[in-house]
Amino acid sequence: MLATLIFFIIRNTVLISSIKQNSTLFAALQNLNAEYAPLFLKLDKTIKIPFPCTKPKTFHNNNNKNSIFDYTCGFFINNKAAQRTLYSRQSNKANLSTYLTRYNKIEAALGGKSYAKVKPKSLLTSELQYKRAEQKFCRRKQLKPDLKLNIAVRLSYSSPAGRRQYVSTYKMSGPTIDNILAQIEGKRRYELHKKHQRALITKAVRFEILKRDGYVCQICGASRAEGARLEVDHKLAVANWGTNTNNLWTLCHDCNNGKGSKEL
Ligand SMILES: [Zn+2]
Repeated sequence: MLATLIFFIIRNTVLISSIKQNSTLFAALQNLNAEYAPLFLKLDKTIKIPFPCTKPKTFHNNNNKNSIFDYTCGFFINNKAAQRTLYSRQSNKANLSTYLTRYNKIEAALGGKSYAKVKPKSLLTSELQYKRAEQKFCRRKQLKPDLKLNIAVRLSYSSPAGRRQYVSTYKMSGPTIDNILAQIEGKRRYELHKKHQRALITKAVRFEILKRDGYVCQICGASRAEGARLEVDHKLAVANWGTNTNNLWTLCHDCNNGKGSKEL
């Protein structure tokens, strides 16, 4: 029994040292690791987000998944540093995928001939055993980037005297984090769109619209002749993705400000 055990331990040690020295698969993996190690970013394991409420009502109204999700999206949209952590995780995911694809290609290309220089029999092992040991060893030496990221949102209310305290903690991971990223991206695209649309209302365009509408507010009919301050506005709010072409109209200052981003 003991002799057998010692034999396997020694054989394993010899195998590993042979793999380290001779395996072309292991050599290729080491090159790949050197290339990818700087690309894999360190991640904070948990992002803690406080959600303090000043009134019990606020606590109860927000004590549900949808509210917490919206709050969390808002937090990330306004916090570039926290956002970077989400993008680091995405980047690790993407790099891990190409890393593994490349490793698998190398393994396939070698066609199990990575130990050609070695005569497994001289190591008291079969070719199959050698190959298995080699692949197992290489898999163990593969890089394992941080992908696990948790978000913990702590909703809390504490009465002024501290007699009443409510606390709820919501944990988010994987798919929810992907949804948050989608929200951040959507918001970013929308801001670009808004900027673009605003930039399209040039002086010439404003003049065209005012002329077309006869210098009259299209809601209340107040005219420039009567002293109304006329403005050119998006009919369908830019916030709702309205585009420019037929979306501009003339409004007086009062009507425009009553409108806000509500659609009429
Ligand atoms: Zn008006």
